[in-house]
Formats: sequence, C-alpha cells, structure tokens
Amino acid sequence: AAKDAGRAQRRHYDPAEARRRTEREGLAADLGIALAEGQLWVAYQPLVRLVGNEPVGVEALLRWDHPTRGPVSPATFIPVAEESGLIVPIGAFVLRQACAQVVAWNALRQHHGRPPLHASVNVSARQLLAPEFLDLLERTIRDSGLPAELLTLEITESVLLDSVNGAADRIEQIAATGVRLALDDFGTGYSSLSYLRRFPVETIKVDRSFTAGLGHSDADEAIISAVVSLADRLGRRVLVEGIETPDQARHVARLGAHLGQGDLYGRPTVADQLHGMLLIAPPDPRPVLDGAVPAA
Ligand code: C2E
Ligand code: MG
Ligand code: MG
Ligand code: MG
Repeated sequence: AAKDAGRAQRRHYDPAEARRRTEREGLAADLGIALAEGQLWVAYQPLVRLVGNEPVGVEALLRWDHPTRGPVSPATFIPVAEESGLIVPIGAFVLRQACAQVVAWNALRQHHGRPPLHASVNVSARQLLAPEFLDLLERTIRDSGLPAELLTLEITESVLLDSVNGAADRIEQIAATGVRLALDDFGTGYSSLSYLRRFPVETIKVDRSFTAGLGHSDADEAIISAVVSLADRLGRRVLVEGIETPDQARHVARLGAHLGQGDLYGRPTVADQLHGMLLIAPPDPRPVLDGAVPAA
C-alpha cells in the first residue's frame, strides 16, 4: 500500500484511471458472489479437424450474466478474477463443468459409434501456480471419469515466462498425469521458440489476429505457414483460431494447419444447442457444417 501511495503521488491524478479502478473494484465485489448466485456458466465452442470438418473437441469459455449489467465479456472480468484470486474457485468450476459435460456427450457419441471429444479448458497463471492445482486436476478427472488424455489445458506464453515461479515444474507434473497442453494465442505474446522445445505442448493455437489477414496479408500467411512447418517438424498440431469464412477455412487447410475454431463452425454456445453440431445424432452422409466447404 505504501508503494501504491508513492506511485500515486508521483503521477498526476488521472480521472479516467480512477474511474477504471472503481469499476474494477465494483466488478470484483460482484464477481465474488456471482458463482454462488449461479450467474456464471460455461459456453462451448467446437474445435474442428479442417479436413472433413469433423468436430474433435470443444473449448470451454466462461460466461457471466450480470444481474444488472447483462452479459460481461471475459476480456473484462477474467483479469479482475485473476487480480482478486477469484479465478481459483471460478476456474475449478469451469474445469468441473467442462469435464462432466464432455463425459455426457461422449457417452452419447459412443452410442452412435463416434470417437470421444476432447475438452479444452483455459487456465491462467494464478490457477496453475496455486498449490492445490494438481490435486484439483486429479480429483476432477477422477470424479468426472474423463480420461486424462481427453483433457487439454490451454495456457498462454506468459505462463511459461513465469518459470521462476515454478511454472516449469508444474507443467511437468501436469504432463505426468496424462493431461495435454495447448499454447493459446500463439504469436501475440513473448513468443519464444524455446518454449516449444522445453515444454510438452501438444497443440499450438495460432491467434485469430493472423487469420483475419488471410487473403490480403502475405505476412500473416507466411507466419501461419511457418508455424505449421515448425509444428510438423516438432510433432505438434496447429489449431488456427478465428475462422469466420469458408475462404479462410480453405486457406488455412491449404497451408497445412490441422485444426480450426471460429464462428464458421459455431460460436460459443450453451451446451444443449450443440448436440446436432457435435454429431451426437446418427451419422449423416451430407457435409457436416452448413457453409463450410470440406478441404480438397
Ligand atoms: P481464448 O482462449 O483465446 O478464446 C477464444 C476467444 O475467441 C473466445 O472469446 C471466443 O469467443 C473468440 N472467438 C472464437 N471464434 C471466433 C471468431 O471466429 N471470431 C471472433 N471475432 N472471435 C472468436 P471469449 O469467449 O470472449 O473469451 C476471451 C478470452 O477469455 C479467452 O480467449 C480466454 O483467454 C479467456 N477465458 C475465457 N474463459 C476462461 C476461463 O474459463 N478461464 C480463464 N482463465 N480464461 C478464460
Ligand atoms: Mg483458449
Ligand atoms: Mg485463444
Ligand atoms: Mg485468443
């Protein structure tokens, strides 16, 4: 607090900054009761194999329906949850929900002769480094019955940067449980290729800012293409985020990317609305996704 006061004195009073701080404090207070009040829920977005358009998993994405503000974006409240530490119980909730939901879907899929889906869950540094994280992970897997190798934790490069705080040890421990890792938002952070060598990251998720440029930015195409060749050589998979148009889908498939995610295949949505999309109905010989052209 003394440090904060010193910093405040050095700077001019900034009304916009003060407003933002009040806003964050208000959100943190509201978020503190959101879980107990049932305002938080998990949306799911399909992860799709680009060749054949077959869903192979879902990403769990947290949603907050605030009683007076309405839906609050995770981009707004996740940082608040991280700062306040609330991300630890909230993250445990997401993990439990996602595992249970995918187990339920997989039972239906098995009934229709479909292979099981993977569950992908975002984990921030604060959660990963919490002393109880490994226990939570093992307990959730055991209680839900989801095989460990069907669970993927999505981490960002900034987590790996935290290696002084024991992130490296924690990642080894997670890998030992059989749970997989994906590197999220690849290309936007402090991308260091040494992370790919050091850490057992199975999937590289190329940030959607690169997808947006496909068709008019040679640089974005070159970057995706380079990440794909790197991943192929290292035996990792590439998932391209933010695929919104059939053109983009064709483009990234041509560049050799393995998996995709984006509005074209389905926006994040409430679990019940995904039954058809996730092929829980019997096999259909027609192309699975409206508007998505299977890669040649
Ligand atoms: P992310 O993990 O990179 O998730 C992908 C984001 O891109 C999601 O935003 C998703 O709705 C959005 N998206 C997917 N396809 C498209 C597309 O075609 N076009 C566009 N424009 N956007 C697309 P969302 O749901 O708002 O989540 C934002 C971020 O919040 C996530 O980014 C993730 O970093 C964080 N987050 C969400 N849920 C959780 C959670 O349970 N725990 C933690 N720690 N972080 C979470
Ligand atoms: Mg993610
Ligand atoms: Mg991402
Ligand atoms: Mg992202």
